[in-house]
Amino acid sequence: MPAETFSDAEQPRDSKLAIKRGLRLKCPRCGEGALFYRYLKVQPECPCCGLDLTPQRADDGPAYLVILVVCHLAGFMMAILWESFRMEPIVMASLMSVFVTVVALALLPSAKGLFVAVQWANRMHGFGRRDA
Ligand SMILES: [Zn+2]
Repeated sequence: MPAETFSDAEQPRDSKLAIKRGLRLKCPRCGEGALFYRYLKVQPECPCCGLDLTPQRADDGPAYLVILVVCHLAGFMMAILWESFRMEPIVMASLMSVFVTVVALALLPSAKGLFVAVQWANRMHGFGRRDA
């Protein structure tokens, strides 16, 4: 068998561990380096282990995931608020707007970390290269 069969490039990656690290905004490979250098800007490479993070292609995926989660939360919350307090529609709309905005902005980095980690664990978009 060729020697590269046994290299790191052929070893299975632990998806659960990578996802945990991604959700904590850490490098999916080492779990130490910060995944982002700004709010949603992914580092070009991990500052600790040197993993090349440029192959990540999260694109709009994290936003779709966050919208899915936040809109479900908002739907249940609207029903509960309406049944419990019978608020004026403008008050409820204002409260829900603030709630949805704050929760969505809070969840976006973790969602992006999740997407990057899943891509790395499954060797997607260049993460399967020998050096990635
Ligand atoms: Zn790393």
